[in-house]
Amino acid sequence: MTTSIDYTDAANWLAYDVDHIWHPYTNVCKPSPVFPVVAAEGVMIELADGRRLVDGMASWWAAIHGYNQPVLNQAIETQLKSMSHIMFGGLTHEPAVRLAETLINITADSLQHVFLADSGSVSVEVAMKMALQYQLARGNKNKTRLLSFRNAYHGDTFGAMSVCDPVNGMHSLFQGVLAQHYFADAPICNEQGQADNFEDFENLIRRQHNEIAAVILEPMVQGAGGMRMYCADYLHKVRALCDELNVLLILDEIATGFGRTGKLFAYEHAGIRPDILCLGKALTGGYMTLAATLTSRHIAETIGGGEPGNLMHGPTFMANPLACSVASASINLLLASPWQARIDRIEKQMRAELQRCQELSAVKNVRVMGAIGVVELQCEIDMHWIQPRFVELGVWLRPFNNLIYIMPPYIIETEQLSKITSAIFTVVTELSVSK
Ligand SMILES: *Cc1c(COP(=O)(O)O)cnc(C)c1O
Repeated sequence: MTTSIDYTDAANWLAYDVDHIWHPYTNVCKPSPVFPVVAAEGVMIELADGRRLVDGMASWWAAIHGYNQPVLNQAIETQLKSMSHIMFGGLTHEPAVRLAETLINITADSLQHVFLADSGSVSVEVAMKMALQYQLARGNKNKTRLLSFRNAYHGDTFGAMSVCDPVNGMHSLFQGVLAQHYFADAPICNEQGQADNFEDFENLIRRQHNEIAAVILEPMVQGAGGMRMYCADYLHKVRALCDELNVLLILDEIATGFGRTGKLFAYEHAGIRPDILCLGKALTGGYMTLAATLTSRHIAETIGGGEPGNLMHGPTFMANPLACSVASASINLLLASPWQARIDRIEKQMRAELQRCQELSAVKNVRVMGAIGVVELQCEIDMHWIQPRFVELGVWLRPFNNLIYIMPPYIIETEQLSKITSAIFTVVTELSVSK
């Protein structure tokens, strides 16, 4: 007997969860409410009590085609019959090669080498290793630091954490363990779409470039570190300075990749190319955990010509065939769909329907880019109140700090999206009245 809970009643297993399981960023002494889910289909999430919620989160940028998608299901079922996993050391397989070819074909021409990792954070670790090994191989022994930005988010492993916002990323908590890197002010752009505070970055990189291996940046939108949007002009200027000062540019598109900002990849807004690119989240359409780090032939071969030459990373589940096969299926599905028109429609609708929130006293700012909508409030949100309130209103949203944000599956219909924007308006009105 391995279990003794009566699983026929969700209340029983929910109680066990509360007693024993950590959820993202939770405290076992003060558990936040969690809702038992039994199924998800299309844009709808079904709770154990039968309630159905319109999904506004795409499971954190990932489920771009919605849930239980027949084509994606089929890709996994087909792959399962030949092999669910096989080690990638000394062996290879068609799903990995197909995915690599696809990624190379759809990203910037210069990107020719692929490392398939098992999560976004790990792909960032790999990107950092690539940059450091590249600089070492070139004899730049002092280029051992990264230049990141305030409000950045690049993941939760220690290397990735060391380039997250020093405050949100809790650098003080892990002082002495985290590597010390440089941080420029978060990008700010003006109404005309021009960089407004580029001097801070420029001064820093000009002063320290002899120590800097790479700049790491989330293009166009800083995600989990504050949902801050900025402009192509800023990216353009970063690229130019990196070229001038022999600093690599790592673009973290784990959140923004695969259409979310209105371009397939956010760097396309600026017409630039990264030296190293991290992809994850929507890579598998939200089906499985998988990430990729891509780089140029020049960088890969420079690493290869250095000491030890090998890129020093190799996860157990590297290039998992199930994940690779569903990733290829997801990308093909995306490219065969009218994704640009869909995102355009979502963007216009969010702009139109979220605008009225701007008038409410609890609201600081409303902003939209592609299929990302953000309502920033004046104050921190009480999650213990707001989360059940949104569920009552029939929508799934997961605010953090003072941010309510929408990043729906691209297949969301007009009425479904309206249900989400109405729920936000209702909740923010309640917050404004109670002030
Ligand atoms: C989510 C995210 C990561 C981390 O990915 P995980 O798969 O959660 O490890 C890194 N960078 C960005 C920009 C992200 O949004």
